[in-house]
Amino acid sequence: MAMELRYNPLIGEWIMVSSVREARPWQPSDRCPFDEGNEETGTGWRFLILPNRFPMLSPNAPKARSVDDFKARRSLGYCMVIVESPKHDLKDLHEIPLDDLALVMKGVRDEMIKLEGSGFVKYIYFFRNKGKEIGVSLTHPHSQMYALPYVPLRIRLELRNMRRHMKRTGKCLLCSILDEEVKLGERVIYTNGDFYIVKPYYSMWPYEVHVIPRRHVQKMTQLTDDELVKLTDALRVTTAMLDNVLGRDMPYIMAFHQGPVKNDDSYHMHVEFYPMLRDANKLKYAAGVEWGLWTFTYDSLPEDKARELKETCRKVTPILNPQGNCT
Ligand code: ZN
Ligand code: FE
Repeated sequence: MAMELRYNPLIGEWIMVSSVREARPWQPSDRCPFDEGNEETGTGWRFLILPNRFPMLSPNAPKARSVDDFKARRSLGYCMVIVESPKHDLKDLHEIPLDDLALVMKGVRDEMIKLEGSGFVKYIYFFRNKGKEIGVSLTHPHSQMYALPYVPLRIRLELRNMRRHMKRTGKCLLCSILDEEVKLGERVIYTNGDFYIVKPYYSMWPYEVHVIPRRHVQKMTQLTDDELVKLTDALRVTTAMLDNVLGRDMPYIMAFHQGPVKNDDSYHMHVEFYPMLRDANKLKYAAGVEWGLWTFTYDSLPEDKARELKETCRKVTPILNPQGNCT
């Protein structure tokens, strides 16, 4: 078994290398490993948090082998799978009742508290891939959590910019952005008071939306139980919107951006959704410009997409949360 982190000094980021992953099953057609009653899952559960059987990171990772000037380090960490429901054919998060999904989110937060205490974990990443278009290998809905021994580049970048803004203005960058979006109103899609769904001014994906807490809070482990319920509500409204805005299933990536384990007050957590379609039959590809430069091209106007999302929000919210406010 070979697994290690290899360092790319040109961009200052690690690559998770693991040959274990080659053995991973690809959309198996026989029995789903996440269904109730399997040896891995057992019976009588409402959600599960399991170690990934094909992890990129492990607390028992072998020693890394640095070669001459090239830098490598041990793939120390944890990869977990969160199965939010025993229902195999669940469409998305919004089909799980609010209270049930809130329990899952509390389970995730409690797992994060445990991982934070493990000593070598520097960053915890919670995410969800949906749809075969983006390479989901098991169709039973699930999320994942990676506990990393380093703070990833994108988070380091956000943290640096938030720190600079704080130093320069005394205010949090994302608090200021949210104030501005609320003032303008054009791109604010939804709020339940504690969380906002915003179509960012600087959207990269056609239907990209961010879920932002009103309170200046760095990490999921700092959220109260009540705030977790409000976060859960905003996530359900988001997936319901994405599932309906084009009249078909929307493949997407959900990325929780939270601060590092070692807390930094200037960070403001948020959840980014990258939906993969630009219309009902067209995928938005990250291609030459996007991958080669990490510069995104936006094929329409975020404000127009915000309008479509608001319309959809008004359709789905009365069922999901009659107290919710589509703006
Ligand atoms: Zn803030
Ligand atoms: Fe972010």
